Amino acid sequence: MRPFAYERAAELAAALATGTVSPAALQQLRPDAQYLAGGTTLLDLMKIDVMRPDRVLDIRPGPAAQPVIRAEGGLWLSAVASMAQAAEHPALRRDYPVVAESLQQAASAQLRNMATLGGNVLQRTRCPYFRDTAFPCNKREPGSGCAAIGGVTRLLAVLGVSEHCIASYPGDFAQALIALDAEVETLAPDGSRRFPFADLHRPPGGTPHVETTLQPGELITGFRLPSLPWARRSLYLKVRDRESYAFALASAAVALDLRDGVVHAARIGLGGVAAVPWRAHEAESVLQGQKLTETRAVQAAEAAFAGAVTQEDNAFKPELGRRTLVRALLQAAAMEI
Ligand code: FAD
Ligand code: SF4
Repeated sequence: MRPFAYERAAELAAALATGTVSPAALQQLRPDAQYLAGGTTLLDLMKIDVMRPDRVLDIRPGPAAQPVIRAEGGLWLSAVASMAQAAEHPALRRDYPVVAESLQQAASAQLRNMATLGGNVLQRTRCPYFRDTAFPCNKREPGSGCAAIGGVTRLLAVLGVSEHCIASYPGDFAQALIALDAEVETLAPDGSRRFPFADLHRPPGGTPHVETTLQPGELITGFRLPSLPWARRSLYLKVRDRESYAFALASAAVALDLRDGVVHAARIGLGGVAAVPWRAHEAESVLQGQKLTETRAVQAAEAAFAGAVTQEDNAFKPELGRRTLVRALLQAAAMEI
């Protein structure tokens, strides 16, 4: 690992945990630093020389702090809450099961204890070529090329890809956030802002190395889930090589407003198959105002993957993704709430 400067930002950490920002905390924002939360992505990538920050600013809450998850319209989640804390939160499990399940099915128990919500949404792709500096990679070294195209692509994306990058976004939590129209709150040296979670990640296009719309030093402080009583009918279905401790090959985050079998609103996020957290608007339109039958669910799934672009190794993904979505929709429809 390369040498780097380490600093602890105690005021900032306390502010993030409680959601109340003090002037002292604001002073600690550092555009030249990489924030360290749980470290389960950052330290991994520093060890293999993929991320090379000169300065690391530690924003983890102290041992006595319990990051806040509180009712506020819907629910507000501190960015430094651990994945485990959020997954076990009673209000989240009751009112937004899709969110709790997306966290519960991610990584391993040890990782969920360590990792934070803010770090989770900003985790980097698991594209094997991104993680191996022996290969060209436009995301790691802009303009160097993409070793994945024509290479080993089993885990990579089929939606939202570009000719410069076909990496998949690996996280689970983000699919639930995008499905529910969550918002993200941030703090930067020039002020705070709140915007749709759907605007946080950027598709690869011609600049795969620019992954988010955050400015240098901008810190995610929390996530806001809207009040959505019908989101109790929601779930996260994840298909992977192992039942635990594996990234999604395909996943579906689904929430349904179903009345007498008719869909008044459907929200769908798709994981494991796309370059960024993916909202399946086309599939939602197919379901809107219709009886949720298996045939209708299949039509929605077909619409979701109509734009898929595959490689030899991941040609199975559209079919797997369609089946995952159909199963998720039918399971959500059958939920007793
Ligand atoms: P860190 O590593 O501390 O930070 C990650 C990045 O986010 C860094 O660039 C950091 O600077 C930045 N950052 C952190 N917090 C903030 C903030 N508040 N504001 C701005 N920037 C910030 N994830 C899944 O979703 N599903 C899985 O199945 C899964 N499986 C995994 C299996 C393994 C073996 C491993 C190692 C990881 C797996 N993960 C999985 C990823 C894991 O969930 C992430 O590594 C973790 O959530 C990152 O959170 P962290 O707090 O450790 O982030
Ligand atoms: Fe890099 Fe993206 Fe190509 Fe993977 S798919 S090698 S991350 S440019």
